[in-house]
Amino acid sequence: MSLLENQRNADEISNIYQELEEMLMANIINHCKNYKQPIQSDEWNMQKLAELGKLNSENIKIIAKQTGIAKSIIESMLFEMAGNVLGRLEPSFRALVRQGLTEDAVNIDKSKNIKKAMKVLYKQANDIINVCNTTMLYKARDAYTNLISNIVSTEKEYLKTLSKHATSVIIGTESRVQAVRKCIKEFNERGIPAFVDKRGREWTPEAYVNMSVRSTYGRVANDMQMARADDYQIDLVEVDSHSGARPKCAKDQGQIFDRANKSKKYRHWNTSSYGEPDGLLGINCRHHIYPYIEGVSIQRYFPVEKEENDKLYQATQKQRALERSVRKQKRECMLYDKIGDKEAFEDASVKLKSKEAQLRNYVSNNKGLHRRKDREQVVGFDKRISAKAIASKKYVDKYGSVKYNEDGTVKITDDWKNRGHVSIPKEYRKNAIIEVTEKKGDNVQINRTFYNEDGKMYRQIHSGPHGNFKLHPYGKNGEHAHDYEWENGKITNRTTRNLTEKERKESSDIL
Ligand SMILES: [Zn+2]
Ligand SMILES: [Zn+2]
Repeated sequence: MSLLENQRNADEISNIYQELEEMLMANIINHCKNYKQPIQSDEWNMQKLAELGKLNSENIKIIAKQTGIAKSIIESMLFEMAGNVLGRLEPSFRALVRQGLTEDAVNIDKSKNIKKAMKVLYKQANDIINVCNTTMLYKARDAYTNLISNIVSTEKEYLKTLSKHATSVIIGTESRVQAVRKCIKEFNERGIPAFVDKRGREWTPEAYVNMSVRSTYGRVANDMQMARADDYQIDLVEVDSHSGARPKCAKDQGQIFDRANKSKKYRHWNTSSYGEPDGLLGINCRHHIYPYIEGVSIQRYFPVEKEENDKLYQATQKQRALERSVRKQKRECMLYDKIGDKEAFEDASVKLKSKEAQLRNYVSNNKGLHRRKDREQVVGFDKRISAKAIASKKYVDKYGSVKYNEDGTVKITDDWKNRGHVSIPKEYRKNAIIEVTEKKGDNVQINRTFYNEDGKMYRQIHSGPHGNFKLHPYGKNGEHAHDYEWENGKITNRTTRNLTEKERKESSDIL
């Protein structure tokens, strides 16, 4: 099995665990939905902690469901791989028997050695699943309590700075909205780890499952081969060699070992680094061992890795990294959508579109790569959210900032000149500029209304004097500006003045 095949086979399982992570996170967010309630943060904190038991039992159900799927896939995959290896090896063992070079053996389906080896593989697969399940269950619990306490402490901090400037009930909920937004971002960054190693490093479900399942799958061929060699009573094995082998492997590669540990001629298997995580056939080891009989060449199961294959493998690893970042960003969108934060969802959508573009470019610029949409999917990021994300991106492209034409005139976001008579909204979209025509008798003028970052109108540019130059003795043709002042959500003052140089330039096309 090549690195690429191994990777593809492991994908299915790591995908199930990424889904599990997404489901647990969505469930955690479900329990934070009432954050807009106007209750004291300490009380909210207590309320949320009281839900911990319920959250936990829901999480157990979610984990059990995904585990069932993962287990059956991993076991049938191991069974299929083992069958493949045995089927290919058997003819060469039979040939050795025919030549009288070795004893005959029982059929594969009667082999105790094969049964034992399969048992070991199944157990290893089960161990991986169990580690993930236990870790993810308590890490999900931790993530929830951390999220709640982070929200509460962030909210209190915001309140402290805000209350210096104003006093209002709005401030209470507003600061929690801000706190939730900030804390969900951090929550998404961290995710739910599936494994904590000896150094205390947390592994994402994707990384841990990928590494450990690949290492289990990687064992299948060697284990089957050795079990069958035991059946045929062949004790000698040969280790292949490749450049760039790690230190422990380097000492063992290219050599012949006696697995019975009796030979006077060959090194004993128990002197090799086999069995150590960073040793021969350990984690990420790319060595293989083959049955060896003096003076006979035996069919080898393992294909030699070609260099181009290696290059493609490297490219797919890079693609994978980009897919992970797309998936994580989608997850952020999904979480903000779930909690009902439109503004944060918009920002997250814009980032998503640029990450998707990066991935698209990488795949189209690398021969042999294909988009794998299934690996970019996020549970709960359905068509509805996807369409919303695209719409948000368009919205932000338009209203994200004020834009200018090449000649320095400002770009109008909303041209309402053909709409007939319209009333100008006091509050509209952020950074919007609405343009309308105003007719009074013979006088036709163009009016532009500018909105600030909060979507509140703050200025108007009028190209004429509203048909009355005496009342509007400004500029050359009566062109003037109005400024609006806001307080507590209401316009409290409106003034009229001459245009500044900058404003003349911005609107030179209508003056
Ligand atoms: Zn190795
Ligand atoms: Zn005016």
